[in-house]
Amino acid sequence: MAEQDRMDKLVSLCKRRGFIFQSSEIYGGTGSVWDYGPLGVELKRNIKDRWWRSMVHARDDIEGIDAAILMHPRVWEASGHVATFNDPMVDCKTCKGRFRADKLHDAQCPQKPSKHPGEHTTCELTEPRQFNMMFKTYMGPVEDSAAIVYLRPETAQGIYVNYLNVLQASRQKVPFGIAQIGKAFRNEITPGNFIFRTREFEQMEMQFFVKPGTEDEWFEQWRQIRWQWHLDLGIRPERIRWYHTKPDELAHYAKDAYDIEYEFPFGWNEFEGIHNRTDYDLKRHQEYSGKKLDYFEQEKNERFIPYVVETSVGADRCTLAVLCDAYDEEQVEGETRVVLRFAPSVAPIKAAVLPLVKKDGMPEIADRIFHDLKHRFPTFYDDGGAVGRRYRRQDEAGTPFCITVDGTTKEDGTVTIRHRDSMQQERVDGSKLGAWLDEKIRS
Ligand code: ATP
Repeated sequence: MAEQDRMDKLVSLCKRRGFIFQSSEIYGGTGSVWDYGPLGVELKRNIKDRWWRSMVHARDDIEGIDAAILMHPRVWEASGHVATFNDPMVDCKTCKGRFRADKLHDAQCPQKPSKHPGEHTTCELTEPRQFNMMFKTYMGPVEDSAAIVYLRPETAQGIYVNYLNVLQASRQKVPFGIAQIGKAFRNEITPGNFIFRTREFEQMEMQFFVKPGTEDEWFEQWRQIRWQWHLDLGIRPERIRWYHTKPDELAHYAKDAYDIEYEFPFGWNEFEGIHNRTDYDLKRHQEYSGKKLDYFEQEKNERFIPYVVETSVGADRCTLAVLCDAYDEEQVEGETRVVLRFAPSVAPIKAAVLPLVKKDGMPEIADRIFHDLKHRFPTFYDDGGAVGRRYRRQDEAGTPFCITVDGTTKEDGTVTIRHRDSMQQERVDGSKLGAWLDEKIRS
């Protein structure tokens, strides 16, 4: 299957089955903003929950926070975003498009067609210019420059400005981390590739505060932890790779950075960054706020500003990687079977309960099982149409298990479980379904 074809099919499946819709579609859509539908919201939430559990619940050296999107405008001066959050842009005098100078190969230039079919005029590009990507808005009743606030372009700054609060409230000691999941906004000039590059997105960021001199060791450790996390999510190892950022590509605050790239249908691209941010951010906030942000290490009677190792992954890009990784088509009995092979732990629906036919007491038993399971797992009930069609519908939604109530169920209480990936069936005691599913979903 051609890669563009694969991407088009995924986008159309996402709409048809309620994973992802274009924002404000009935008005013609908003540029590069997307809404998550009933299945998409579950998928993304499962990914975020896994991240939160691994960062905050499973470790005793990381605390979670949820900072506001709107922050004091000085935050963005201190962070360097007002001065440097720019992409060099070029304009095309022919098609009027605007593109990132460093990513011209991504530019989807429409190039005005010439009078002769099949021929196109070429783009005539201006010199690169700087363009600030932060969204501005006003706080309070007066729209003047004193009231300007920004929609945060990253969640990390909400962590730095709360570093002291968390340190004091939690009694953590360096090394320790603060994790946050939240929205970020960037006025991207060349957004696109579905939910890959959007103007409103969600980040899952963790800032780990360490003693200067230990940052390289922690950097390596976090690289390994984050790599393994993606594998545990079910991402195929051959579809991820490291990209070591070159010195001239490093952000102004970074000493070292690695990206984890995924092989999307449109090519290898970053979906997580692991950065050694040095003491840049805390130093700058100390300078701009006038508040002391150093750390006192009692045992050594030493004061220092911690270094920061950051792990930053987009919840939407990660969701896209999971969707691309899961999408599969195969020929079964002369028909194309479309299946989303999600790991059971991230699948939006864990099980579907299907009475084989709508008679002989089967719907009643199926209904009982459904209500029983529904309290523990996202479960779906479907009694419409031939059972083969119902299986296919669940394949497209990525539901790992279909539980069918048939004639034998009434006799011995067993049900058929049909596995999404292998299409194999097995009989399981109906009274043990909860425990059976629990075990499969956890693994
Ligand atoms: P890119 O080079 O693709 O613009 P970046 O290096 O600017 O990304 P970071 O600032 O390191 O990205 O942000 C960390 C993560 O946040 C990225 O790895 C990505 O998953 C996510 N992210 C950043 N920008 C966007 C966006 N416009 N849409 C969706 N996710 C994004």
